[in-house]
Formats: sequence, C-alpha cells, structure tokens
Amino acid sequence: MNMNHSILETIGQTPLVRLNRVVGDVAATVAVKLEYFNPGGSLKDRAVLSMVEAAEQAGKLRPGGTIIEATSGNTGYAVAMVAAAKGYRAVIVCSDKVAAEKIDTLRAFGAEIVRVPGDATREDPEHYFNTAHRLAEAEENSLYISQSYNPDNPAGHFRTTGPEIWQQTGGKVTSFITSAGTGGTISGTGRYLKEQNPAVEIVLADPVGSVYAGFLETGEVAPSQPYLVEAAGQDELYIPPNFAADTVDRALRVTDEEAFVMARRLAREEGIFCGMSSGLIVHAAVQLAREKSAGDLIVAIVCDSGDKYLSRLYSDRWLRERLPGLVGADR
Ligand code: PMP
Repeated sequence: MNMNHSILETIGQTPLVRLNRVVGDVAATVAVKLEYFNPGGSLKDRAVLSMVEAAEQAGKLRPGGTIIEATSGNTGYAVAMVAAAKGYRAVIVCSDKVAAEKIDTLRAFGAEIVRVPGDATREDPEHYFNTAHRLAEAEENSLYISQSYNPDNPAGHFRTTGPEIWQQTGGKVTSFITSAGTGGTISGTGRYLKEQNPAVEIVLADPVGSVYAGFLETGEVAPSQPYLVEAAGQDELYIPPNFAADTVDRALRVTDEEAFVMARRLAREEGIFCGMSSGLIVHAAVQLAREKSAGDLIVAIVCDSGDKYLSRLYSDRWLRERLPGLVGADR
C-alpha cells in the first residue's frame, strides 16, 4: 500500500522543473523548485513542521497545546495546517489590514485570529510581535513560533530543501538562488549545499528597497524604501537572526516591475502559476544565467502559487494603478 499516514507526510519532496521559455537564449540551465506543491501551499510548511517537531521533542509543546505566530502570510497557513493535522490549537496574530480571504483561509483550518492595529510600531505593546509574545507567555503549554529567531526554521531547510536539491540535481547544482524574508530558506539550504560543495554559489534575490542587499555589500543596515513585492526582502531596519549573511555570496536587486512581469510570464509561457516573490527570484535567476556557461545549473525557488495574488499581481487594474505602463508592455 502506498498511503501517507497524515497530510504532514506530504510536505517536501517537491518537483524540480527546468525552465524552457522565459530564460531566453542562454547556455546555462535554470530549474525551479516548486514549493507550492506543499500541502499548505508554500515553502513555509517545511519550516513550521520543523519548528513544531523540535518543540515537541524538547518537551516544550505537549498534547492539548497551542501554537502561536504573528504573521499574515504563508507561515500562518502552515501553522494552521500543521496544528490541525496534529490536534493543536492555532492562534494567529495579524494586523487589521490583512485581506478577508486570508483570514477566511486561516479560519477554515480552525485557527483563531487575533487582529491588532496595522499601524502599531514595534515599541507598541499592540504590535503583532509583542501581542503574540504576550499571548504565549500567558499560556502554559504553548509554542511561539517566532520564525525570524527560531533556529529550527533554517534547520528544517537544512534537513529537507538542501538535500532534495542536491539529490535532484545529482550534485550538479552550481548556483542556488532565493529571496529572504526571515532568511530561513537561504540560510538552511545554502549551508547544506555549501557543506556538500563549497563552490556552490548562494545568491540572494532582493527587492530594490529591501535592506538585505546593502547589508551584504557594506555591512550596514541602511533605510529602506517602499516596494510592492510581498514576503521577500526586509523593509524594517533590522536583519533577522535567521539571515546567515556568511552563507550568501552575493545579492541581485530586482524591481517590482521586473518581478511582476516575470511572474506573469511564468504562468503564460511555462504554465507555472506563482506568487510575487517567485517572479522576483526567477527574474534574478535569468539574469544570473546570462553570466554563466553550459554545464552551469541554477536552482531557483518558486515559493508559493499565484492564487493568493489574484486581486493584486494578476489584476490588470491593480497593476495599472501602481505601475502605469506595465500591463501594456506585458502583453
Ligand atoms: N513566503 C513567500 C511567498 C516567500 O516568497 C518567501 C521568500 N522567499 C518567504 C515566504 C520567506 O522565506 P524565508 O522566510 O525562509 O526567508
């Protein structure tokens, strides 16, 4: 019999797929790892499962317990899904600006939602990080995921994403490229690949305006400027502890426009329906491929699917209002 014992066993082992059209005429190969094949719809399933199982093994989370996280994105879906499958209560703290469909999805998994003012600063006790921390302190047998600080986030990628890429490429991967939110993916996967072969190049795709690229180049955390791509880069003046700068060789900066055009092209030209950060990462991967030669194999992450972005990235009207001229150019 070939049957999984729970939905959680279907996390990971995502497909690696070569890109054929959007890369243009280059000698190198670009392949994408399709993380939307995970049951919660993104790469965050791996990190959350790793953080929850580490807490269980350490005796910090026991049956009947509660998992708490401050998030509005994929981590929330992953927490809600893992908690449902394991029988825990999930509490997701998010800002009152988060879209109704996201809240409905979290509730569908049975998660409880605590909404806090979207304009609260980090110092404000109502800020979503502070609220999540307070809730976790007040509740016995609870785990505050704290994905930017929790070392079991990159550890999950070190144990799964890295080895899968190494095996799927038969050890032939020469560059690995992704963006960083918490830094868990690039740090954990990058460290694993470098341990197999120190010559594997680890490249960060960063939105123009994020603090990471400048930090890698100068060691300084300079003020960021606003950008539209969601879930990639860092727009606050801080580098999360899970971003291991020493595993990253270089950064490539990508504009909103470049990211959005590539995401839309991936759907139309490759049949790969992805989110904003994936457009950003693949744009950078294609730039990188132009510098490389035959025999080079670039692996890029496709973080999540496009369905969460229908009213933004895939809405001509939304795009036209924010980036005039883009939609016409894209057709
Ligand atoms: N979710 C999505 C949709 C993302 O694009 C990214 C960035 N690649 C992340 C999450 C963040 O990954 P990490 O926190 O591991 O850096």
